[in-house]
Amino acid sequence: MSVLGSAIQAGFDVEQVRAEFPVLRQKVHGKPLVYLDNAATSQKPLAVIDAIRRFYEVDCANIHRGVHELSQRSTAAYEQTRVKAKLFLNARTRNELIFVRGTTEGINLVASSWGRKCVKAGDEIVIGAMEHHSNIVPWQLLCEEKGARLRVIPMNDRGELLMEEYAKLLGPRTRMVAVGHVSNALGTISPVREIIEMAHKAGALTLIDGAQAAPHMKLDVQALDADFYAFSGHKVFGPTGIGILYGKSKLLNAMPPYQGGGDMIRTVTFEKTTYNDLPYKFEAGTPNIAGGIGLGAALDYVNRIGLDKIAAYEHELLLYGTEALSAIPGLRILGTAREKAAVLSFVMEGIHPHDIGTVLDRMGIAVRTGHHCAQPVMDWFGVPATTRASLAFYNTAAEIDALAAGIRKVKEMFS
Ligand code: PLP
Repeated sequence: MSVLGSAIQAGFDVEQVRAEFPVLRQKVHGKPLVYLDNAATSQKPLAVIDAIRRFYEVDCANIHRGVHELSQRSTAAYEQTRVKAKLFLNARTRNELIFVRGTTEGINLVASSWGRKCVKAGDEIVIGAMEHHSNIVPWQLLCEEKGARLRVIPMNDRGELLMEEYAKLLGPRTRMVAVGHVSNALGTISPVREIIEMAHKAGALTLIDGAQAAPHMKLDVQALDADFYAFSGHKVFGPTGIGILYGKSKLLNAMPPYQGGGDMIRTVTFEKTTYNDLPYKFEAGTPNIAGGIGLGAALDYVNRIGLDKIAAYEHELLLYGTEALSAIPGLRILGTAREKAAVLSFVMEGIHPHDIGTVLDRMGIAVRTGHHCAQPVMDWFGVPATTRASLAFYNTAAEIDALAAGIRKVKEMFS
Protein backbone atom coordinates (compact mmCIF):
# COMPACT_ATOMS: atom_id res chain seq x y z
CA MET A 1 0.00 0.00 0.00
CA SER A 2 1.23 3.52 -0.72
CA VAL A 3 1.90 5.81 2.23
CA LEU A 4 -0.88 8.07 1.03
CA GLY A 5 -3.14 5.03 0.80
CA SER A 6 -2.29 4.11 4.37
CA ALA A 7 -3.17 7.64 5.55
CA ILE A 8 -6.52 7.37 3.84
CA GLN A 9 -7.06 3.89 5.24
CA ALA A 10 -6.02 5.16 8.67
CA GLY A 11 -8.91 7.59 8.28
CA PHE A 12 -7.17 10.90 8.03
CA ASP A 13 -6.31 13.17 5.17
CA VAL A 14 -2.71 14.20 5.68
CA GLU A 15 -3.15 17.42 3.66
CA GLN A 16 -6.09 18.40 5.82
CA VAL A 17 -4.02 17.68 8.92
CA ARG A 18 -1.14 19.79 7.59
CA ALA A 19 -3.50 22.72 7.08
CA GLU A 20 -3.96 22.79 10.86
CA PHE A 21 -0.24 23.47 11.41
CA PRO A 22 0.45 27.06 10.30
CA VAL A 23 4.22 26.73 10.65
CA LEU A 24 4.30 24.10 7.91
CA ARG A 25 3.00 26.56 5.33
CA GLN A 26 6.22 28.54 5.04
CA LYS A 27 9.18 28.46 2.71
CA VAL A 28 12.71 28.25 4.10
CA HIS A 29 15.52 29.50 1.86
CA GLY A 30 12.92 29.74 -0.90
CA LYS A 31 11.89 26.06 -0.62
CA PRO A 32 8.79 24.58 1.04
CA LEU A 33 9.65 23.68 4.62
CA VAL A 34 10.15 19.96 5.17
CA TYR A 35 10.12 19.60 8.95
CA LEU A 36 11.77 16.36 10.03
CA ASP A 37 12.96 17.31 13.52
CA ASN A 38 9.92 16.13 15.44
CA ALA A 39 11.86 14.18 18.06
CA ALA A 40 13.43 17.46 19.20
CA THR A 41 10.11 19.24 19.26
CA SER A 42 6.94 18.82 17.26
CA GLN A 43 4.88 21.56 15.63
CA LYS A 44 1.69 22.92 17.15
CA PRO A 45 -1.80 22.76 15.63
CA LEU A 46 -4.08 25.80 15.61
CA ALA A 47 -6.13 24.25 18.40
CA VAL A 48 -3.14 24.54 20.75
CA ILE A 49 -2.13 28.01 19.59
CA ASP A 50 -5.74 29.19 19.96
CA ALA A 51 -6.06 27.73 23.47
CA ILE A 52 -2.96 29.59 24.66
CA ARG A 53 -4.09 32.78 22.97
CA ARG A 54 -7.55 32.48 24.51
CA PHE A 55 -6.03 32.08 27.97
CA TYR A 56 -4.01 35.29 27.65
CA GLU A 57 -6.75 37.20 25.85
CA VAL A 58 -9.73 36.20 27.95
CA ASP A 59 -9.00 34.20 31.09
CA CYS A 60 -5.54 35.17 32.32
CA ALA A 61 -5.32 34.85 36.11
CA ASN A 62 -3.37 32.91 38.68
CA ILE A 63 -4.91 29.58 39.63
CA HIS A 64 -6.09 27.76 42.76
CA ARG A 65 -6.09 30.77 45.06
CA GLY A 66 -8.57 33.18 43.56
CA VAL A 67 -12.31 33.45 44.14
CA HIS A 68 -12.83 35.79 41.20
CA GLU A 69 -14.24 34.67 37.87
CA LEU A 70 -10.99 34.77 35.86
CA SER A 71 -9.12 32.72 38.43
CA GLN A 72 -11.94 30.20 38.54
CA ARG A 73 -11.92 29.88 34.77
CA SER A 74 -8.13 29.54 34.60
CA THR A 75 -8.12 26.98 37.40
CA ALA A 76 -10.85 24.94 35.72
CA ALA A 77 -9.07 24.95 32.36
CA TYR A 78 -5.71 24.04 33.90
CA GLU A 79 -7.17 21.28 36.06
CA GLN A 80 -9.08 19.93 33.07
CA THR A 81 -5.72 19.09 31.53
CA ARG A 82 -4.90 16.94 34.53
CA VAL A 83 -8.05 14.95 33.85
CA LYS A 84 -7.14 14.73 30.15
CA ALA A 85 -3.65 13.50 31.10
CA LYS A 86 -5.23 10.91 33.39
CA LEU A 87 -7.25 9.60 30.44
CA PHE A 88 -4.28 9.88 28.07
CA LEU A 89 -2.16 7.66 30.32
CA ASN A 90 -5.03 5.67 31.80
CA ALA A 91 -3.98 6.52 35.36
CA ARG A 92 -6.23 5.53 38.25
CA THR A 93 -6.87 8.99 39.66
CA ARG A 94 -6.11 12.58 38.71
CA ASN A 95 -3.96 12.84 41.84
CA GLU A 96 -1.35 10.65 40.18
CA LEU A 97 -0.59 13.29 37.54
CA ILE A 98 1.97 15.94 38.49
CA PHE A 99 2.57 18.94 36.25
CA VAL A 100 6.27 19.38 35.59
CA ARG A 101 8.37 21.35 33.09
CA GLY A 102 8.87 18.26 30.98
CA THR A 103 10.34 14.78 31.02
CA THR A 104 13.63 16.07 32.40
CA GLU A 105 12.00 17.61 35.42
CA GLY A 106 9.80 14.56 35.94
CA ILE A 107 12.84 12.28 36.14
CA ASN A 108 14.72 14.74 38.36
CA LEU A 109 11.74 14.93 40.68
CA VAL A 110 11.74 11.16 41.21
CA ALA A 111 15.54 10.86 41.47
CA SER A 112 15.59 13.69 43.95
CA SER A 113 12.52 13.05 46.09
CA TRP A 114 12.20 9.25 46.01
CA GLY A 115 15.95 8.77 45.58
CA ARG A 116 16.99 10.87 48.56
CA LYS A 117 14.58 9.01 50.80
CA CYS A 118 14.91 5.46 49.53
CA VAL A 119 18.39 4.94 48.05
CA LYS A 120 21.32 3.99 50.26
CA ALA A 121 25.01 3.19 49.79
CA GLY A 122 25.45 -0.03 47.85
CA ASP A 123 22.01 0.15 46.20
CA GLU A 124 21.77 -0.10 42.43
CA ILE A 125 19.90 1.86 39.77
CA VAL A 126 19.54 0.21 36.36
CA ILE A 127 19.15 2.20 33.15
CA GLY A 128 19.27 1.28 29.44
CA ALA A 129 22.17 1.71 27.02
CA MET A 130 20.37 4.22 24.83
CA GLU A 131 18.97 6.62 27.41
CA HIS A 132 18.68 10.33 26.78
CA HIS A 133 21.02 12.29 29.06
CA SER A 134 18.01 13.30 31.12
CA ASN A 135 17.56 9.66 32.14
CA ILE A 136 21.24 9.21 32.93
CA VAL A 137 22.52 12.29 34.74
CA PRO A 138 19.83 12.59 37.47
CA TRP A 139 20.58 8.97 38.47
CA GLN A 140 24.31 9.59 38.34
CA LEU A 141 23.89 12.58 40.65
CA LEU A 142 21.86 10.44 43.02
CA CYS A 143 24.38 7.59 42.93
CA GLU A 144 27.26 9.99 43.61
CA GLU A 145 25.45 11.49 46.55
CA LYS A 146 24.43 8.17 48.07
CA GLY A 147 27.30 5.90 47.15
CA ALA A 148 24.94 3.84 45.01
CA ARG A 149 25.86 2.17 41.72
CA LEU A 150 24.53 2.89 38.23
CA ARG A 151 24.25 -0.21 36.05
CA VAL A 152 23.51 -0.24 32.33
CA ILE A 153 21.55 -2.77 30.26
CA PRO A 154 23.65 -3.31 27.13
CA MET A 155 22.22 -3.35 23.60
CA ASN A 156 22.93 -5.20 20.37
CA ASP A 157 24.00 -3.64 17.07
CA ARG A 158 20.38 -3.17 15.99
CA GLY A 159 19.89 -0.98 19.03
CA GLU A 160 17.79 -3.42 21.07
CA LEU A 161 18.26 -3.96 24.80
CA LEU A 162 19.70 -7.36 25.67
CA MET A 163 17.05 -8.82 27.92
CA GLU A 164 19.19 -11.75 29.13
CA GLU A 165 21.82 -9.27 30.27
CA TYR A 166 19.11 -7.21 31.93
CA ALA A 167 17.94 -10.28 33.87
CA LYS A 168 21.51 -10.74 35.13
CA LEU A 169 21.71 -7.14 36.36
CA LEU A 170 18.63 -7.45 38.55
CA GLY A 171 19.20 -8.44 42.15
CA PRO A 172 18.44 -7.67 45.77
CA ARG A 173 20.30 -4.36 45.55
CA THR A 174 18.30 -3.06 42.57
CA ARG A 175 16.08 -0.20 43.72
CA MET A 176 15.00 1.39 40.45
CA VAL A 177 14.93 0.47 36.77
CA ALA A 178 14.66 3.60 34.62
CA VAL A 179 14.39 3.09 30.87
CA GLY A 180 13.21 4.96 27.81
CA HIS A 181 10.08 3.67 26.13
CA VAL A 182 11.28 4.88 22.72
CA SER A 183 14.85 5.94 21.93
CA ASN A 184 15.16 9.43 20.49
CA ALA A 185 18.52 8.58 18.91
CA LEU A 186 17.60 5.25 17.29
CA GLY A 187 13.82 4.95 17.37
CA THR A 188 13.92 1.61 19.25
CA ILE A 189 10.70 0.75 21.06
CA SER A 190 11.84 -1.14 24.14
CA PRO A 191 9.73 -3.94 25.68
CA VAL A 192 8.86 -1.88 28.73
CA ARG A 193 6.08 -4.13 29.91
CA GLU A 194 8.48 -7.05 30.23
CA ILE A 195 11.16 -4.78 31.71
CA ILE A 196 8.73 -3.58 34.37
CA GLU A 197 7.52 -7.08 35.19
CA MET A 198 11.08 -8.32 35.64
CA ALA A 199 11.98 -5.30 37.80
CA HIS A 200 8.97 -5.87 40.02
CA LYS A 201 9.86 -9.54 40.46
CA ALA A 202 13.25 -8.37 41.71
CA GLY A 203 11.54 -5.96 44.11
CA ALA A 204 12.59 -2.80 42.22
CA LEU A 205 10.53 0.19 41.13
CA THR A 206 10.37 1.43 37.56
CA LEU A 207 10.41 4.76 35.81
CA ILE A 208 9.64 4.96 32.11
CA ASP A 209 10.86 7.92 30.08
CA GLY A 210 7.96 8.34 27.68
CA ALA A 211 9.19 11.51 25.94
CA GLN A 212 9.32 9.81 22.54
CA ALA A 213 6.47 7.39 23.09
CA ALA A 214 3.69 9.83 23.96
CA PRO A 215 3.51 11.41 20.47
CA HIS A 216 3.48 8.08 18.66
CA MET A 217 1.55 5.37 20.49
CA LYS A 218 -1.36 4.71 22.80
CA LEU A 219 -0.22 4.54 26.41
CA ASP A 220 -1.63 2.72 29.40
CA VAL A 221 0.34 3.01 32.63
CA GLN A 222 -1.93 0.52 34.39
CA ALA A 223 -1.47 -2.14 31.73
CA LEU A 224 2.28 -1.49 31.86
CA ASP A 225 2.19 -1.38 35.66
CA ALA A 226 4.76 1.46 35.52
CA ASP A 227 5.51 3.05 38.88
CA PHE A 228 6.48 6.36 37.27
CA TYR A 229 6.01 7.57 33.69
CA ALA A 230 7.12 10.95 32.34
CA PHE A 231 6.48 12.82 29.10
CA SER A 232 6.90 16.33 27.66
CA GLY A 233 4.12 18.50 26.27
CA HIS A 234 6.20 19.98 23.48
CA LYS A 235 6.86 16.61 21.86
CA VAL A 236 3.18 15.74 21.82
CA PHE A 237 2.20 18.85 19.80
CA GLY A 238 1.74 20.99 22.92
CA PRO A 239 3.73 23.92 24.29
CA THR A 240 7.23 23.90 25.73
CA GLY A 241 7.84 24.15 29.47
CA ILE A 242 5.08 21.76 30.50
CA GLY A 243 4.94 18.01 30.93
CA ILE A 244 3.50 15.27 33.07
CA LEU A 245 4.93 12.96 35.65
CA TYR A 246 2.69 10.03 36.49
CA GLY A 247 3.36 8.18 39.72
CA LYS A 248 1.39 5.55 41.64
CA SER A 249 -0.32 7.43 44.44
CA LYS A 250 0.97 5.18 47.20
CA LEU A 251 4.53 5.98 46.09
CA LEU A 252 3.92 9.70 45.63
CA ASN A 253 2.23 9.90 49.03
CA ALA A 254 5.28 8.38 50.70
CA MET A 255 7.74 10.72 48.96
CA PRO A 256 8.90 14.04 50.44
CA PRO A 257 8.19 17.26 48.47
CA TYR A 258 10.54 18.08 45.61
CA GLN A 259 10.47 21.86 45.98
CA GLY A 260 9.04 24.14 48.64
CA GLY A 261 6.87 27.19 48.08
CA GLY A 262 3.31 28.28 47.54
CA ASP A 263 0.55 25.79 46.69
CA MET A 264 2.43 22.74 48.00
CA ILE A 265 1.65 23.54 51.64
CA ARG A 266 -1.35 23.14 53.89
CA THR A 267 -0.13 25.22 56.85
CA VAL A 268 3.07 27.14 57.43
CA THR A 269 4.51 28.40 60.69
CA PHE A 270 8.13 29.21 61.40
CA GLU A 271 8.29 26.06 63.47
CA LYS A 272 6.65 23.60 61.10
CA THR A 273 5.05 23.27 57.69
CA THR A 274 2.50 20.66 56.72
CA TYR A 275 2.13 19.69 53.10
CA ASN A 276 -0.74 19.73 50.70
CA ASP A 277 -2.35 16.57 49.33
CA LEU A 278 -1.45 15.02 46.01
CA PRO A 279 -0.90 16.22 43.38
CA TYR A 280 -0.23 19.72 44.76
CA LYS A 281 2.43 18.53 47.19
CA PHE A 282 4.77 18.37 44.19
CA GLU A 283 3.68 21.61 42.52
CA ALA A 284 5.36 24.52 44.28
CA GLY A 285 4.84 28.04 42.98
CA THR A 286 2.87 29.49 40.10
CA PRO A 287 2.95 26.88 37.33
CA ASN A 288 3.02 27.24 33.56
CA ILE A 289 -0.73 27.87 33.38
CA ALA A 290 -0.90 28.70 29.68
CA GLY A 291 1.31 25.69 28.97
CA GLY A 292 -0.96 23.41 30.95
CA ILE A 293 -4.00 24.65 29.08
CA GLY A 294 -2.17 24.31 25.76
CA LEU A 295 -1.20 20.76 26.66
CA GLY A 296 -4.86 19.94 27.26
CA ALA A 297 -5.67 21.17 23.75
CA ALA A 298 -2.80 19.09 22.36
CA LEU A 299 -4.03 15.91 24.07
CA ASP A 300 -7.53 16.58 22.72
CA TYR A 301 -6.03 17.05 19.28
CA VAL A 302 -4.09 13.77 19.19
CA ASN A 303 -7.06 11.93 20.65
CA ARG A 304 -9.22 13.36 17.90
CA ILE A 305 -6.88 11.99 15.24
CA GLY A 306 -6.34 8.79 17.23
CA LEU A 307 -3.00 7.40 18.38
CA ASP A 308 -3.67 4.06 16.73
CA LYS A 309 -4.14 5.81 13.39
CA ILE A 310 -1.05 7.93 14.00
CA ALA A 311 1.04 4.84 14.82
CA ALA A 312 -0.19 2.95 11.75
CA TYR A 313 0.49 5.84 9.37
CA GLU A 314 3.89 6.64 10.84
CA HIS A 315 4.87 2.99 10.56
CA GLU A 316 4.16 3.11 6.81
CA LEU A 317 6.18 6.32 6.55
CA LEU A 318 9.05 4.69 8.43
CA LEU A 319 9.08 1.70 6.07
CA TYR A 320 8.97 4.02 3.08
CA GLY A 321 11.77 6.19 4.48
CA THR A 322 13.93 3.22 5.45
CA GLU A 323 13.70 1.88 1.91
CA ALA A 324 14.39 5.26 0.31
CA LEU A 325 17.43 6.00 2.48
CA SER A 326 18.84 2.47 2.40
CA ALA A 327 19.00 2.74 -1.40
CA ILE A 328 21.55 5.58 -1.15
CA PRO A 329 25.09 4.19 -1.55
CA GLY A 330 27.35 4.91 1.44
CA LEU A 331 24.45 5.68 3.80
CA ARG A 332 24.12 3.57 6.94
CA ILE A 333 21.05 3.68 9.15
CA LEU A 334 21.84 3.34 12.86
CA GLY A 335 19.05 1.71 14.79
CA THR A 336 17.35 -1.15 13.01
CA ALA A 337 15.35 -2.56 15.89
CA ARG A 338 12.48 -4.87 15.00
CA GLU A 339 10.15 -2.66 17.04
CA LYS A 340 10.84 0.87 15.94
CA ALA A 341 9.22 4.30 15.93
CA ALA A 342 9.56 6.76 13.06
CA VAL A 343 13.18 7.85 13.51
CA LEU A 344 15.80 7.61 10.76
CA SER A 345 19.25 8.18 12.21
CA PHE A 346 22.08 7.75 9.73
CA VAL A 347 25.72 8.36 8.89
CA MET A 348 27.33 8.76 5.47
CA GLU A 349 30.78 7.67 4.53
CA GLY A 350 33.18 10.63 4.45
CA ILE A 351 30.59 13.35 5.14
CA HIS A 352 30.13 14.94 8.55
CA PRO A 353 26.51 15.07 9.77
CA HIS A 354 26.80 18.83 10.35
CA ASP A 355 27.62 19.30 6.66
CA ILE A 356 24.64 17.14 5.71
CA GLY A 357 22.35 19.14 8.00
CA THR A 358 23.61 22.47 6.74
CA VAL A 359 23.19 21.59 3.07
CA LEU A 360 19.74 20.08 3.69
CA ASP A 361 18.73 23.27 5.51
CA ARG A 362 19.50 25.28 2.35
CA MET A 363 16.92 23.04 0.65
CA GLY A 364 14.32 23.82 3.31
CA ILE A 365 14.75 20.43 5.00
CA ALA A 366 15.04 20.54 8.80
CA VAL A 367 16.84 17.54 10.30
CA ARG A 368 18.89 17.30 13.47
CA THR A 369 22.58 16.56 13.54
CA GLY A 370 24.66 15.80 16.61
CA HIS A 371 24.65 13.35 19.46
CA HIS A 372 20.92 13.87 20.21
CA CYS A 373 21.62 14.07 23.97
CA ALA A 374 22.56 10.40 23.84
CA GLN A 375 26.37 10.46 23.75
CA PRO A 376 26.74 6.86 25.01
CA VAL A 377 24.79 5.68 21.95
CA MET A 378 27.19 7.54 19.65
CA ASP A 379 30.14 6.02 21.53
CA TRP A 380 28.65 2.56 21.15
CA PHE A 381 28.42 2.95 17.36
CA GLY A 382 31.82 4.67 17.27
CA VAL A 383 30.51 7.84 15.61
CA PRO A 384 30.65 11.41 16.93
CA ALA A 385 27.19 12.27 15.63
CA THR A 386 24.42 11.21 13.28
CA THR A 387 21.93 12.95 11.05
CA ARG A 388 18.41 12.27 12.29
CA ALA A 389 15.14 12.63 10.45
CA SER A 390 12.29 12.11 12.91
CA LEU A 391 8.76 11.92 11.59
CA ALA A 392 5.32 12.95 12.70
CA PHE A 393 1.88 12.17 11.32
CA TYR A 394 1.84 15.40 9.30
CA ASN A 395 4.86 14.31 7.27
CA THR A 396 4.35 12.84 3.83
CA ALA A 397 5.96 10.42 1.40
CA ALA A 398 6.77 13.42 -0.81
CA GLU A 399 8.79 14.90 2.03
CA ILE A 400 10.73 11.65 2.38
CA ASP A 401 11.40 11.82 -1.36
CA ALA A 402 12.68 15.37 -0.89
CA LEU A 403 14.95 14.18 1.93
CA ALA A 404 16.35 11.32 -0.15
CA ALA A 405 16.91 13.61 -3.14
CA GLY A 406 18.59 16.14 -0.84
CA ILE A 407 20.94 13.53 0.60
CA ARG A 408 21.89 12.39 -2.90
CA LYS A 409 22.71 15.99 -3.75
CA VAL A 410 24.86 16.32 -0.62
CA LYS A 411 26.69 13.18 -1.69
CA GLU A 412 27.40 14.64 -5.14
CA MET A 413 28.69 17.87 -3.59
CA PHE A 414 31.10 16.08 -1.28
CA SER A 415 32.38 13.41 -3.68
N1 PLP B 1 13.93 11.55 26.97
C1 PLP B 1 13.94 11.41 25.66
C2 PLP B 1 13.93 10.04 25.05
C3 PLP B 1 13.99 12.55 24.85
O1 PLP B 1 13.99 12.41 23.52
C4 PLP B 1 14.00 13.82 25.44
C5 PLP B 1 14.10 15.03 24.61
O2 PLP B 1 14.58 15.00 23.52
C6 PLP B 1 13.96 13.91 26.84
C7 PLP B 1 13.93 12.74 27.57
C8 PLP B 1 13.97 15.21 27.54
O3 PLP B 1 12.81 15.89 27.27
P1 PLP B 1 12.63 17.43 27.71
O4 PLP B 1 13.85 18.14 27.18
O5 PLP B 1 11.38 17.83 27.05
O6 PLP B 1 12.56 17.44 29.18
